[in-house]
Amino acid sequence: MHAPEPVTATWGFPTKVWFGAGRLGDLPAAVRQCGATRPLLVTDRGLATLPMVAEAVALLADAGLTCAVFAEVKPNPSGGNIDAGVAAFREGGHDLVIAFGGGSGLDAGKAIALMARQSRPIWDFEDIGDHWQRVDTSAPVPVIAIPTTAGTGSELGRSSIVTDEARRRKIVIFHPIMLPDLVIMDPELTTGLPRVLTAATGMDALAHGLEAYCSPVFHPMADGLAVQALRMIREFLPRAARDGNDLAARSQMLVASGMACVALQKGLGGMHALAHPLGAQYDAHHGMLNAVLMPYVVAHNMPVLKGRLADLARCLDLPRHTDAAVLDWVLSLREELDIPHALTGMGIDDTHAGEIVAAAVLDPCGFTNPIPLDQTNVAGIFGAAVAGRV
Ligand SMILES: [Zn+2]
Repeated sequence: MHAPEPVTATWGFPTKVWFGAGRLGDLPAAVRQCGATRPLLVTDRGLATLPMVAEAVALLADAGLTCAVFAEVKPNPSGGNIDAGVAAFREGGHDLVIAFGGGSGLDAGKAIALMARQSRPIWDFEDIGDHWQRVDTSAPVPVIAIPTTAGTGSELGRSSIVTDEARRRKIVIFHPIMLPDLVIMDPELTTGLPRVLTAATGMDALAHGLEAYCSPVFHPMADGLAVQALRMIREFLPRAARDGNDLAARSQMLVASGMACVALQKGLGGMHALAHPLGAQYDAHHGMLNAVLMPYVVAHNMPVLKGRLADLARCLDLPRHTDAAVLDWVLSLREELDIPHALTGMGIDDTHAGEIVAAAVLDPCGFTNPIPLDQTNVAGIFGAAVAGRV
């Protein structure tokens, strides 16, 4: 594939994106451009100890901007984490959120900014029907998103996933104003990511692109984004996993993950419908769950995707232009990235099958699966993924 050398760029699609190695240095200018002076940087506990967070805070301090850090965010952010972040935001008199990190920091930061101005509980804004219209939009808190992984793409998304621990459910919180006001995509921030996380987060981006592409919703613009993201992931994910310091590969993956997330405006499918309850039950890595589930969901959907997957195989320049070639590619890529073949490889068996399947059928992300999901077929997919039977 011909891919131009990644350079510094400024885009307005779908929101302002400042792309380029070293652009974290532009953070103070970004805060000022959003009209703020007292940012709250939201990230997870693990990242908070890394030099990049200290560097961001120091950059802001040098520019005369007072920044506090809120890092009480679990890998799967909980409603309690969001409440604590809102309290920190209000007590500190902050006027902007810097959502910093992988999916955890980004989703938590976006949710904290949304909830900072609401009087209703967060669960009232679950992505069901027109619940998003309950949001008070009179005084939105601006958000600058800074991704440190190439996977979730949440920096270009309009929702956050928050775990309701009482109900052991992952809830999609959605509102158009949750799209960050400005994104700093600095691929240097992703170079330190360990191989296993590079693989798992990259496979999450692949899941977004593939599920969006397979969704039956009419949205050719999203299809275009999905296909191009998948082409970039096919070429650059193995490279990024082989050599974490390959800045060109990291750059392409960072943009591809954002594009795949924009594409998922078209909807997702069975991978995410199952990954959400499994993540809530086992506190397992979201991208890794999607990676393991992927071939079982593709195989299940294949009968209604005749020709469509073959088209994708052609766009991806796979060795054969057939529907099955896409499944073969997924299987070989997973093997190359050392992704477990079955859910048992992640310590997941069928102990909670009943609850998992029931929750997956209700998950709104599954509503756009190419074959409508029900108890029977989801139980079949889950059973195959536990047994490793494609
Ligand atoms: Zn995902």
